[in-house]
Amino acid sequence: KDLENKVAIVTGAASGIGREVAFAYATEGASVVVSDISEKGGNETVDQIKKEGGEAIFIKADTSKAADNEALVKQTVEHYGALHIACNNAGIGGESLPAGEYSIEGWDKVIAINLSGVFYGMRYQIPAMLSAGGGAIVNMASILGAVGFRHACAYVAAKHGVVGVTQTAALEYAPQKIRINAVGPAFISTPLLQHMDEEALNGLVALHPMGRLGKPEEVAELVLWLSSDKASFVTGGYYPVDGGYLAQ
Ligand code: NAD
Repeated sequence: KDLENKVAIVTGAASGIGREVAFAYATEGASVVVSDISEKGGNETVDQIKKEGGEAIFIKADTSKAADNEALVKQTVEHYGALHIACNNAGIGGESLPAGEYSIEGWDKVIAINLSGVFYGMRYQIPAMLSAGGGAIVNMASILGAVGFRHACAYVAAKHGVVGVTQTAALEYAPQKIRINAVGPAFISTPLLQHMDEEALNGLVALHPMGRLGKPEEVAELVLWLSSDKASFVTGGYYPVDGGYLAQ
């Protein structure tokens, strides 16, 4: 197993991509800290992992609050003795409006969760990983970390920011054996897209050369690889998992 004796945090692990990442980590032998604001979904993820014979606990944390991120890392180290891997995945879509109409509160909320949340996570994960002698961080960006998308200025700005903070922290910690990468999923079938009607979803499908949306487990596969020692020379990268979206 690729993650034997490793301790991993996954944020936003009560649903969608984060839940699949938590499953993938646990299947490869990691002890997984499932974190989310949703206790119900988080506990379901933990129960599922335990049913399959894996090891996991739930710790509630709001990634947009620095203190929650600090407590999450502290409780992880207290419970499992160390921290080696983190997937900073929690995120929201935000409202859908052009920049000239986007609400200020809506902007602040998306930036707080999708961008500041990733920085706050790394801010406390990195010192813990230094104590463990190294580690791997995978930040959840999006294809919208590389290109624009109408009516999503806050989301697009946050995801571009995630790529930038990933590259910068990767440069800073490469000598100390912490690898830090970002992944860029295209549109993936998760509850994040639940609010969309069928016509809108079909419109999204048409944007992907493969003619379909992605599945959360297809993103988890890439996250798992980047988190494992198989990716030992890979840091500071941004990896699309997008059915060809960005190649157009
Ligand atoms: P999802 O809605 O299924 O899951 C997101 C999880 O994050 C939920 O469990 C939610 O409770 C949690 N969350 C929300 N705000 C939080 C907060 N402040 N603190 C802690 N947890 C919080 O969505 P998903 O599609 O699995 O999205 C996961 C990540 O993948 C997000 O960062 C999203 O931007 C990114 N992403 C999604 C898609 C897509 O099309 N679904 C595409 C590219 C990137």
